[in-house]
Amino acid sequence: MADIIDEATAEFEHHLNAAIANRAKPTPPSPICKNGDCGEKSLAGTSYCCRECREDHEKELWARNNRKIFR
Ligand SMILES: [Zn+2]
Repeated sequence: MADIIDEATAEFEHHLNAAIANRAKPTPPSPICKNGDCGEKSLAGTSYCCRECREDHEKELWARNNRKIFR
């Protein structure tokens, strides 16, 4: 039984480390607005040209992460 527990623990730690690694990787701000085909220059230190673009793109990312398609 100990082997099964060890395997489960190793599996859990693997996922945990992957989650931490993903979170520790910051995305650098994009110089061009990331919202769809907007193409405007981003505001300094952000990845979007305006608040509306950021909200639009965040909604899209959320939808993608939740495997829903807005079409
Ligand atoms: Zn924009």
